[in-house]
Amino acid sequence: MSRHSDRGPLTRRQALALMSAGAGAAAFSADLFAQKTPSFPRGSVIRTLFKDVPPADIDGPILFHEHLSIELPPNLNPRPANAPPPPPAQPPATANVDLIVEEVKAAAKDGIRCIVDGGHPDMKRNLENLKAIATRANLLVVASGGYYMERVYPPKPPPIGTARSVKSERTQTRR
Ligand SMILES: [Zn+2]
Repeated sequence: MSRHSDRGPLTRRQALALMSAGAGAAAFSADLFAQKTPSFPRGSVIRTLFKDVPPADIDGPILFHEHLSIELPPNLNPRPANAPPPPPAQPPATANVDLIVEEVKAAAKDGIRCIVDGGHPDMKRNLENLKAIATRANLLVVASGGYYMERVYPPKPPPIGTARSVKSERTQTRR
C-alpha cells in the first residue's frame, strides 16, 4: 500500500485490494528484472525484525512498501463549512492481527520472501503486532523508522543532527 489518504483509515476491502495489487506488482517486477542480478557491497545486510539477512539469501520478491500495522491519526485540518459529516470512526483493518497473518501467509505462498512495513511509530504502527505477524506467518519483515508527515510528528521537534534539522542548517548556510 503505497499511498495514504487523509480521509481516514482504509476499509478492510481497500486494504485487501491494495495488498493484492502490491503482490501482483512485485511478481510483475520479478519477471521484468529476472535477467539482472543486483550486486551489493560486501557485508551488506537487510535488517529484518529478528535477524540481519544477506541480500543474496532472499531468493524471491520483496514487497517494499506495505502496511501490516497502521492507524493513521485523523486529519485535523478544518473541514469546509458545507462539507458532509465525516464517516464514523472505524478500527483500522490492520487491527485484526489474525487477518493480517493470513494475508501474509498467502503472500508467502505466492512466493513473496520479505515484506518491508512502511509504518512508523507516529503512524501508530504497532511493533508488537508486527513481530507477532512476522513470527506467526514465518516471513521476513523489515520495520521502518523515522517520521511520516508533519501533522503526526511528536510535539517535540527532532534533536539537532537529524535529517530535518540538517536540511534547515543547509538552508541557512546558503543565505
Ligand atoms: Zn505507506
